[in-house]
Amino acid sequence: MSEYAFFEATRIFKRAVPLMVKYKVPTTPHYFSLWYTYCAGTHPELNRAIDDTVAKFGLCSREKCDGLIESFLIGDSKKELDNFRQKVENMVADLGNSMDATVSDTEEFQDILSSSVTKLEDVQNKASSGADNQLVIHELLQGSQHLLSATSQYRLQVTTQKAEIDALKKKLEEYKTQATNDALTGCLNRRAFDKQMADYDAENVEVSLIIVDIDHFKAFNDEYGHQMGDNVLKLVANKLEQSMNDFASVYRFGGEEFAALVPRVSFNNAWKIAEKARTTLERLSVTDKRTGKKINSITASFGVASRFGGEEMGELLARADEALYDAKGKGRNCVMPKSR
Ligand code: GH3
Ligand code: MG
Ligand code: MG
Repeated sequence: MSEYAFFEATRIFKRAVPLMVKYKVPTTPHYFSLWYTYCAGTHPELNRAIDDTVAKFGLCSREKCDGLIESFLIGDSKKELDNFRQKVENMVADLGNSMDATVSDTEEFQDILSSSVTKLEDVQNKASSGADNQLVIHELLQGSQHLLSATSQYRLQVTTQKAEIDALKKKLEEYKTQATNDALTGCLNRRAFDKQMADYDAENVEVSLIIVDIDHFKAFNDEYGHQMGDNVLKLVANKLEQSMNDFASVYRFGGEEFAALVPRVSFNNAWKIAEKARTTLERLSVTDKRTGKKINSITASFGVASRFGGEEMGELLARADEALYDAKGKGRNCVMPKSR
């Protein structure tokens, strides 16, 4: 495990255990996997389900945890994968069968052809009767028609299967996207972030990290509803991506937190990029469809840190986190940099 991955796991661990205690969840490895995922923020829908449960009951029962593990961590992905594998297996079997059938039809026709050729040679050599000629021609015609119908059936089958293959390819692309992109906002997810950090680490890239956390988002959800909150998350992700487009890749870091990785720019320039993104968010305006009221209060706080020399990625993340904490302390809606 890299230093960074270790730091991350520890950070999540430190958050998960107190929550389990708070919500009266047995601290066994089975339930820990659920709460670790919650704190890692990789399954927003799971987080929502847990948030709703603790909001309602003040705890998260064993049964509820079991249900959540079944539906979010084991159930869906396993079922979908089994389904996908089954489809591929069926298709390969179908293709094999129709190829076998066509090959056997072709072999049959070859037999007819070679026996007809022999007979034709006989006809030529022995100057046989018109009735013999008719018979040979008739057999050849029948064989050809049979092969024609077999190959056209095969073509039809291949065309259908090509459409199926295309659909499966599309599904495979979707799986790949799901692996790296966040389902709600469409921007890159935490897994992609971890991978990019590991790659920058391996290549020793000087990179800046900007952490963005939407201000008072809990209150926003409480006032305007979760649906509206989700819309704002999508919008914020979109605006961050637009604003940082040429310089940085934007990731959903978890919940209402985003991260941007800005490789090979100076600390000051990373700071400027963050400041530009902050003003973009500050200018956002959305309408609450239920009341028609315009909401202009969306802001976020930013922490910026740059990697120096071969600094551990865990240290970089910790500094960006501290900078974000400072920004919240300064009253929010601001960018705080933290140099070494
Ligand atoms: P601060 O300014 O200190 O960051 O306050 P905050 O309310 O934004 O921070 P807090 O960590 O207390 O609350 C984060 C909220 O973000 C709570 C949670 O319900 C909400 N949230 C996290 N993920 C989602 C999501 O996917 N959709 C919606 N609508 N809300 C989310
Ligand atoms: Mg937060
Ligand atoms: Mg927040």
